[in-house]
Amino acid sequence: MGSPTLRLLAIHAHPDDEASKGAATLARYAAEGHRVMVLTCTGGERGDILNPAMEKPGVLENLPAIRKEEMARSVAALGVEHRWLGYEDSGLPQGDPLPPLPEGCFALVPPEEAATSVIKVIREFKPHVIITYDENGGYPHPDHLKVHEASMIAWEKAGDPTFAPEAGEPWTPLKLYYTHGFIRQRMQIFHDLLIEEGKPSPYTSMLERYKRNKADIFARVTTQVECAKYFPQREESLRAHATQIDPAGAFFGTPSDVQAKYWPTEEFELAKTRVATTLPEDDLFAGIEEEGVER
Ligand SMILES: [Zn+2]
Repeated sequence: MGSPTLRLLAIHAHPDDEASKGAATLARYAAEGHRVMVLTCTGGERGDILNPAMEKPGVLENLPAIRKEEMARSVAALGVEHRWLGYEDSGLPQGDPLPPLPEGCFALVPPEEAATSVIKVIREFKPHVIITYDENGGYPHPDHLKVHEASMIAWEKAGDPTFAPEAGEPWTPLKLYYTHGFIRQRMQIFHDLLIEEGKPSPYTSMLERYKRNKADIFARVTTQVECAKYFPQREESLRAHATQIDPAGAFFGTPSDVQAKYWPTEEFELAKTRVATTLPEDDLFAGIEEEGVER
């Protein structure tokens, strides 16, 4: 008998977030025979077109439908299951003063209501492990902050039979991680390699931003998952989001094989656990099998 099938749920705000935050880890666990699901809370209706090649007639007008197709290609590349939560993208407010959030958007949904929608999925899929964003959303977008808020309520309440009984039979997840996709040290290595080769670096502006904002997210990482074998799938997942990701940008600044050599892992922070585990970890399921978990 091989190792048991466990279930992993990654909660994301927009189509494309799954490709840039822990994608190779999802591909790895799926390839190893576990069930992996991406839950996308909004349709990404208010995303900008970030790839000059996609600024052509018919794209912006049909963005919601195009992003659905992009998402389908992305999860197919990763070999994982997918669900839409069905909320509307809040957009990234810009300007001074900031404009109000659009009526009916995800960021304006009351926290308990958003959490109940997430709980419905949790009670049905029964994940042992949940991946979500930290208290800063990993990126200051109102939808990312809402994902964090809803996830944390769901972590507390999904197993509580008195909370939203209409949302299904209680299920208690065992671990909850924050994904930390933007590690300064990793980007610095890739930047230095390009400079050494006399090539332009697409990482310069991001590294400047880290200089101004001193918080070192790497200090919070508890868990590094080796997943270099799945970097080509991660790249395919990124490329699937053609309207959102510029092929000349930082995500494609370093080929997969070079990334595999210099930074073969993805990074997570164990934020909550109901099982015993030893830090640092190299496996999101560490400590779970030992519990003789319900499957
Ligand atoms: Zn997003």
